[in-house]
Amino acid sequence: MSFVIGLDIDGVVADSFPVFLEELNRHYGKDITKIDNYDMTKVFDVDGDDLESFFNENVEYLFSAPKPMPGALETIDSWLRAKHEIIFVTARGGDREEKITLDWFEKYNLPQDKIIFTGGLSKTFPVKKYGINVFVDDFMTNALEIAAIGVPVLLMNAPYNQGKLPHGVKRCFNWEEIRCCVQDILLKAEKSSAK
Ligand SMILES: [Mg+2]
Repeated sequence: MSFVIGLDIDGVVADSFPVFLEELNRHYGKDITKIDNYDMTKVFDVDGDDLESFFNENVEYLFSAPKPMPGALETIDSWLRAKHEIIFVTARGGDREEKITLDWFEKYNLPQDKIIFTGGLSKTFPVKKYGINVFVDDFMTNALEIAAIGVPVLLMNAPYNQGKLPHGVKRCFNWEEIRCCVQDILLKAEKSSAK
């Protein structure tokens, strides 16, 4: 049985937040050690326009410097070899961000033909459109929205996504756990389709 696996990029495939944190600390002259709120205007106590211009001015570095999350490339490769389909769904968007993202995928030998850039819109539409069977994200809002349409979600643990999880969302602490959880979901699907 082959599966369609949906993956977020920042905080899931790309270890982006340590880079964001370091650059934001440098820019604002702070020494914050963890991003415990997804809304970084709250973490750094700055206004949204200011943060947006920081991101616009530094997008090249912010999106090209992150390393892949440990274990991500190996697991994605094993899924591709097992003939599963992988769709990357990211809130990134716009020509510049898309170009930087494609270059990053090329650098790490990731498939560049299945990246959906939502530009911040809900991920539920591409999840439905591409028949995604399981989705991995680190942003609680995305996890809740996707689980609400009946698609199982694995939430990559982060300081900004703590809290109780509803049915259909499972917290994972690393890529090894993600690999095992996807395998479990796949086996269950195989069993129920054999009935
Ligand atoms: Mg993310």
